[in-house]
Amino acid sequence: MTIPHILIAGAGIGGLTAAIALARRGIAVTVAEKRTGFAESGAGIQLSPNAGRVLDALDLRLQLKRASVTARRLVVRRWHDGAALSEMPMSASEGESPFRLLKRADLHMLLLDAARSLPNIRLIVGRGVEAVAQDGDGVMATLVGESGQCETVAALGLIGADGLWSRLRELNGDASTPSFTGFEAWRALVPVTGASAGEAQVTLHLGRDRHAVHYPVSGGRETNLVIIRAAREAREGWSREGESALLASQVAGATPALHRLASAAGSWRVWSLYDRPPAAMAKGRIALLGDAAHPVLPFLAQGAALAIEDAAVLARLLAHHLERDGAAGVPAAMAAYARERAERVARVQETSRGNGRAYHLGRPWSFARDLVMKRLGPDGLRRRHDWLYDWRERA
Ligand SMILES: Cc1cc2nc3c(=O)[nH]c(=O)nc-3n(C[C@H](O)[C@H](O)[C@H](O)COP(=O)(O)OP(=O)(O)OC[C@H]3O[C@@H](n4cnc5c(N)ncnc54)[C@H](O)[C@@H]3O)c2cc1C
Repeated sequence: MTIPHILIAGAGIGGLTAAIALARRGIAVTVAEKRTGFAESGAGIQLSPNAGRVLDALDLRLQLKRASVTARRLVVRRWHDGAALSEMPMSASEGESPFRLLKRADLHMLLLDAARSLPNIRLIVGRGVEAVAQDGDGVMATLVGESGQCETVAALGLIGADGLWSRLRELNGDASTPSFTGFEAWRALVPVTGASAGEAQVTLHLGRDRHAVHYPVSGGRETNLVIIRAAREAREGWSREGESALLASQVAGATPALHRLASAAGSWRVWSLYDRPPAAMAKGRIALLGDAAHPVLPFLAQGAALAIEDAAVLARLLAHHLERDGAAGVPAAMAAYARERAERVARVQETSRGNGRAYHLGRPWSFARDLVMKRLGPDGLRRRHDWLYDWRERA
């Protein structure tokens, strides 16, 4: 019997998770990555239990434990005076997947190592999927390198895990483009010195048209700090260096503690934030996952988590339909995946947008928001997120 073969465009967090999940189910995978290297910029990621459970099931628990800090709580503070508005417990019971805080580069690297250790995954670096044709038997994709070199890859199906500016989404006939939200994110890693390591908590500061979030990463040796603020226009590039002259205005009116943290950062990277409605997640033998299908604004810390969930669901359905119907089962698997994911991804996207609006309220609306948060209390706030963090992939 020939081993079924799936092609994945993009070796980001979603693409690599899909590759590992498929390979572990006995499916051969080729992953084509457009970039020539895997340098991830210095930034942190909150890995919530809904995604953590998927990675634990892929036998990555130990690697994740080594790379991450376990968060105990989220504390929400007011921008100008640091008054605590609310708190949400993040701790997990024994044996449960915890709420992990780690560097994006560390998460990416452990996924890459796991993918490289599996013999049925082939990784092609420096080649982007530029064109694809599909028929009743499979897909034929054209991979193109930076200097124009081409190769074609045949597979039973193609997964577009190629991020916000997805070429696969375009090839699937989606003519929309990402739209600038009017916000940009400034991200930095701040070295922790001596006693200032602090607790394993995520701290959120809410201000008018801006908020900041910080938490420990690298085993507590660094703090990941993100400041998101309104910006008049999207500036060139997706990840550019932050001008230190503008830093003072990012933290204007904030507490001395936040000022100190921001001024201890060596360098900043800036992302202009874009939004895009969810795509049709499947078309015949092609499926989209992660940011390619449904980019999530970073007001809920769920973009990578959703990509990881997508990967697990798609791998299960592909394995099931391939076993039952062979190559002919691929379109049904892709369609079932799109149906199973549609409602959840739309809800997560919308909840994140709603958080963005609530986080950045000015007076008098911020008073009402703060009151609601206080009334909810820690348990109430946690219960509000049960639908999100309690998600489990079927065995
Ligand atoms: C400020 C900020 C903070 C965030 N914090 C969190 C957080 O705490 N928790 C969380 O879960 N999420 C967070 N996110 C979201 C998260 O980073 C993304 O949602 C996640 O990285 C998406 O993963 P992906 O694999 O879908 O896409 P990507 O990570 O964008 O990967 C796509 C890959 O595809 C490659 N590619 C592109 N085109 C092609 C092509 N044609 N052929 C082949 N390869 C191609 C790219 O080079 C890239 O490697 C945050 C985002 C921002 C901006």
